[in-house]
Amino acid sequence: FLSVKGLTKAFGELEVLKDINLDIEEGNILAIIGPSGSGKTTLLRCLNVLEVPNKGEFTFDDGFKVNFDKPMRKKEITELRRKSGMVFQSYNLFPHKTALENVTEGPLIVQKRPKSEVIELAENILNKVGLGDKMNLYPHQLSGGQQQRVGIARALAIKPQLMLFDEPTSALDPELVGEVLKVIKDLANEGWTMAIVTHELKFAEQVSDQVIFMDEGQIVEQGPPEAVLRSPQKERTQQFLKRIL
Ligand code: ATP
Repeated sequence: FLSVKGLTKAFGELEVLKDINLDIEEGNILAIIGPSGSGKTTLLRCLNVLEVPNKGEFTFDDGFKVNFDKPMRKKEITELRRKSGMVFQSYNLFPHKTALENVTEGPLIVQKRPKSEVIELAENILNKVGLGDKMNLYPHQLSGGQQQRVGIARALAIKPQLMLFDEPTSALDPELVGEVLKVIKDLANEGWTMAIVTHELKFAEQVSDQVIFMDEGQIVEQGPPEAVLRSPQKERTQQFLKRIL
């Protein structure tokens, strides 16, 4: 689906991503793990061009290609943003809009799709994530798990080809983690292509097709979950897994 080559990103002097190469296959789920500060969030934000990479290239299956060695054109940014939907760690919902309005915002305002079609779509998606009876409530009237499910519904509503999740459960109370992971598992079963930054290793092992372990801006190890999580070859991966298990 997407091939990333030589992706590099620095904030001033600090090189946060160093020559990242990875492939995401259509319908596959990529789990990104690694210690705090290793560049996981920055990698996702680069995929969605919330951060503009300094160097590198994205090539999509459909022939769309962006090279970051030269300044990006506005059309390229728009096209990249349309391809992926982002779910944030801290939900990032609009506080003064209802659940339904949060979900309709992107397709109505950004994509300028017809209102009646968008409302029907948003209602369907909110039903799907189990919030059919909460559509008219505001974020502060919802639990963390419900807010994050609105966050997922909002990302789905723009009909992306790739779903990006940045530690979607790490802000949640432990008892609310399960309901959000279930929604993500359902999407996995439906065949969505996804990249998920997560500390939930059990979840990563259950749903992902590929795991990458990052440290200090580099991919240290990548492969199927049973290989990377159960029998890692690199010492840095072994140490990390020992520490968090
Ligand atoms: P965590 O698991 O704690 O979220 P992470 O692996 O996602 O960490 P990033 O958030 O990608 O790591 O951050 C990688 C490095 O880049 C960190 O040292 C961070 O301080 C730095 N960084 C991230 N965003 C910026 C920014 N906008 N400006 C300057 N430095 C940044």
